[in-house]
Amino acid sequence: MRQEKIKIAIWGFGAMGSGMATMILHKQGTDLCGVCDNYDGYVGKSIFSLLNLNNPYDHDVIIQKDIMSMLETAKPEIVLLATDSFTKSAFPKIKLIIEHGCHVISTAEEMAYPKANQPELAEAIDQIAKQNKVTVLGTGVNPGMMMDLLAIVLSGVMTDLTKFDISRINSLSPFGKTVMEEQGVGLSQAEFMNKLENKTIAGHVGFKESAMMIADAIGLDMESFHQTMAPIITEVDRSSKYGFAAKDDVCGVNMKAQAKLENNIDINLHHPQQIEPQLGGVKTGDYIRISGSPEVNMAITPEIEGGLGTIAICVNMIPHVINARPGLKTMIDLPVPRAIIGDMRKLIETE
Ligand code: NAD
Repeated sequence: MRQEKIKIAIWGFGAMGSGMATMILHKQGTDLCGVCDNYDGYVGKSIFSLLNLNNPYDHDVIIQKDIMSMLETAKPEIVLLATDSFTKSAFPKIKLIIEHGCHVISTAEEMAYPKANQPELAEAIDQIAKQNKVTVLGTGVNPGMMMDLLAIVLSGVMTDLTKFDISRINSLSPFGKTVMEEQGVGLSQAEFMNKLENKTIAGHVGFKESAMMIADAIGLDMESFHQTMAPIITEVDRSSKYGFAAKDDVCGVNMKAQAKLENNIDINLHHPQQIEPQLGGVKTGDYIRISGSPEVNMAITPEIEGGLGTIAICVNMIPHVINARPGLKTMIDLPVPRAIIGDMRKLIETE
């Protein structure tokens, strides 16, 4: 086993980034060496006072506003980037990290399969990563696991298939400000419809990424893709840590997508997500039905919690990313994700 601890930095100390910090502090063989966030309420503060945790290290971790200064002082080998949803906005940050010689794991939904919406940027990331001999991965609970990788893995026991019906009915409550804004939580119905018409509301980001990941994984081209979005209106006031929706306002988004693959194979995706679903009498769950031989019919109830799920998968993929050959990777390129309970260095390949 290698001697040096894995030096990890976090860029973006919001709901996901701060959760990753907490998880890393409890993992053997790791050293959380730096954190960057530009929120004035965090800058200059110790993460241990913000998280209300004991410092297990012989150094403090002070949140820095300037990413260059953080990378130069902390000298991480891998950076967990938890600031964005879109490849376009994450790209300059990813490039900067790569050019500092660090591996990257991004929570940006589009980065889970960036060639789906940004093939040129995906190619550029791959090239720059190879030039700098580092690896880049996008992952998260969804996209990254529940509506794509898990279905792909389940199809591994099938001789043939005709259709994927994948549904994730989940709570938005664990997610931060960025997600609340993207889903329109707290908007009036009229404001939501206006944003929908002007295409200024994102809803769930990642359906096209999930569908194309499945298509590529089973060796078929995607011939068409279509998605729809509708507001979920609450009948009672709902509030979560980062969101609030008054009665008759928007508490989440109901998204559906259909993808058609070669060989007449269909992928149907259904993803209604809202804050505090129990207040609307909604039971959460993850469901994957694959028609074919043999039939696959998976149900996980309640849902896999999305906040902790994202935090965990990003941290658990660290050794796989460090071990991988340089370039842009996706969840179908790397070894299967698993919870790392022992010393993380045991999973790092040595010569
Ligand atoms: P959040 O809003 O709670 O946190 C984002 C943090 O990044 C904030 O603290 C903000 O100050 C900081 N930040 C933003 N831009 C910055 C910059 N240029 N420099 C320094 N700091 C900056 O959001 P979150 O819930 O933590 O989620 C983070 C991102 O991950 C979101 O875009 C979200 O959509 C995505 N996400 C993806 C998945 C998935 O399953 N793939 C799951 C959860 C979140």
